[in-house]
Amino acid sequence: MKRLFVAFINLFRIPTDNMPLVRAQFDAFSKQIPLLYFILTTNSLAAAWTFTRFAPDWLGVYFPSALCTLCGVRCVWWWRSRHKVFSDTYIIKAMRATTGLAVGLTLGFTIWALLLYPYGDAYARGQVVFCLALTVIGCVFCLMHLRPAALAVTLFANIPFVLFFFLEGHDSLKAISINLALVSVAMIMILMVYSRDFARLVESQAETRRLSDENFRIANLDSLTDLPNRRWFFTELERYHAEAVASGRSFAVGIIDLDGFKPVNDTYGHMTGDRVLAEVGRRLSRTAGKDLTLARLGGDEFGFIMANDPTEDRLKAFSTTLIEAIRLPFAIGGSNAHLGASIGVARYPDTAQSPESLFERADYALYHAKRTQRGQVVVFSSRHEEQIRSHGVIEQALQAADFDNEMSLVYQPIVDTRTGRASTFEALARWNSPILGAVGPGDFIPVAERNGQVRALSLILLGKALRAAAQWPQTVRISFNLSAHDISQAESVIQIIALINQSGVSPKRIDFEITETSISYDFQQARAAVIAFRALGVGISLDDFGTGYSSLSHVHRLALDKIKVDRSFVADVTTNPVSHKIVKSLSALCTDMGLDCVLEGVETAAQLEALTDLGCTFVQGYYFARPMPEEDVQHYLESEDKLPSRRRMGK
Ligand code: C2E
Ligand code: CA
Ligand code: CA
Repeated sequence: MKRLFVAFINLFRIPTDNMPLVRAQFDAFSKQIPLLYFILTTNSLAAAWTFTRFAPDWLGVYFPSALCTLCGVRCVWWWRSRHKVFSDTYIIKAMRATTGLAVGLTLGFTIWALLLYPYGDAYARGQVVFCLALTVIGCVFCLMHLRPAALAVTLFANIPFVLFFFLEGHDSLKAISINLALVSVAMIMILMVYSRDFARLVESQAETRRLSDENFRIANLDSLTDLPNRRWFFTELERYHAEAVASGRSFAVGIIDLDGFKPVNDTYGHMTGDRVLAEVGRRLSRTAGKDLTLARLGGDEFGFIMANDPTEDRLKAFSTTLIEAIRLPFAIGGSNAHLGASIGVARYPDTAQSPESLFERADYALYHAKRTQRGQVVVFSSRHEEQIRSHGVIEQALQAADFDNEMSLVYQPIVDTRTGRASTFEALARWNSPILGAVGPGDFIPVAERNGQVRALSLILLGKALRAAAQWPQTVRISFNLSAHDISQAESVIQIIALINQSGVSPKRIDFEITETSISYDFQQARAAVIAFRALGVGISLDDFGTGYSSLSHVHRLALDKIKVDRSFVADVTTNPVSHKIVKSLSALCTDMGLDCVLEGVETAAQLEALTDLGCTFVQGYYFARPMPEEDVQHYLESEDKLPSRRRMGK
């Protein structure tokens, strides 16, 4: 009995523990409100119109006017709030109030109808019965989505109605009241089934939405770092772009690329690599905060989007904090690994108009950072724009170039300060393009690296260098620059070795110069290449030493045999005590490690003197000779024999 009572009471409850359902009910029911009041007022007006002749004014005019005014007020209120978004608590309150109002109005109209009834003639009474039944059925239909109100209306209208007409005594009225009672029971059952089906429908819609949200989340999430992925990044980029176009405001795109991740991945394995990437993701999102869009673009590349008119200073400062966060050591096993990051940034609308070209610009700035300002941020500027334009021109000419005819080499001696003689000639590429004229290697080598032509180019140039070296005395070595692409693929290493073997030049006379950038490209492969070359007897020099970072560990782990100290240290060795100190300790370190050390870019006698005083053995630079064509190498070597060595060394 008690359970039945509880079940009965529950029928009138609003399911506050299931807000999606309550909201769906509220939305559906809100749409019916005007119709509900339309039914109420038309029926009341029809009855009132008939009864003004029979009933006193308070019952025939004022009472229905008051009820209809109440309906009108409620309708206006509904109209005004139809587009508002309501809170959960408001909705629950509104639904309870509506149920209360429904009870009040039902009682009001029912009492009014029953009070009117005795005043009418047979026809008018018939109209009251008809109106009352019609109104109840119409209202219950309109309140279908608000079960408590629908049930209340059914009960509070029908119980007095059935009792009243049953007790009236007339047979046909008795029949009507029994009829209405049975129809009401049927209506309640329909209502129950409907509200159960409605709840199920809402639930299944919610489930579908949840599944599609989950699918969306998974499709847009990088599982390793839990950051949004590349797909999401580009969707967001489009959105930011559309917003910026509409609002006239600016935003920026940044691409973050880790420096030195590959060696960590290669040395410690992919599992550790993954853990490091996840930690990088955490550090980046912690530093970036919630307002910034951050994503993993793939591999060791991340991206961010900064909105709200970021200035160049703000972008630089922010990027620097990201880089600093990545520079902190990563604990791996018992030891610490160190990474760096380079960032390229481009701003809308100053550097690009479309999202795609904005991303490309940021990528270009990143490429620039990687090559020239490793571990720093580069913001895309008009200077880069000019470069891209000229690179585009170079790229086209390079694609049409006949390497064999247009490419040549010049040779610059590396001098042994102990003898004053050239121990080695470094081969440096020159391009005489029929379209562009003379183009420097600093301009076309990076383009060839980017468009994948550099391997073919290297093989042609190496062939030329070896043919030249074959003509030189056996004591003179040849040094050749290799790019990252030459040593990052086993196939090209094999081709290079085959070329050496065919050339007739002893591998022991050959040095390859590689840069730190080319090693960090793919450390394991670079290591394998170095091992293969050294096994053949070829020497390996680390070029531009000092411009990258953590180079010394590379020297150690790669078993290189020579380093070439970048010419930036030599340039101010006589004026800057720091450079002087660096050169001093580097040369001491080389002696300790049994490495040869070459100082590049010697231009003056004073620089040479400072270097020889520091015990440097090998030097190279304009002071001795500019890079010269092949035919001049013989003359240079012959002229060495004619000069006393002291004079040649500037003493
Ligand atoms: P690098 O290997 O560091 O070559 C030294 C560059 O410094 C050469 O410029 C050379 O002409 C210049 N140089 C030599 N002595 C002095 C000096 O006393 N003062 C100054 N200011 N500069 C001096 P170049 O020939 O324009 O080559 C530029 C870069 O292009 C090279 O830098 C090298 O990285 C690359 N490169 C040149 N030839 C090749 C090649 O055949 N293959 C590859 N992969 N890269 C090459
Ligand atoms: Ca070089
Ligand atoms: Ca160099």
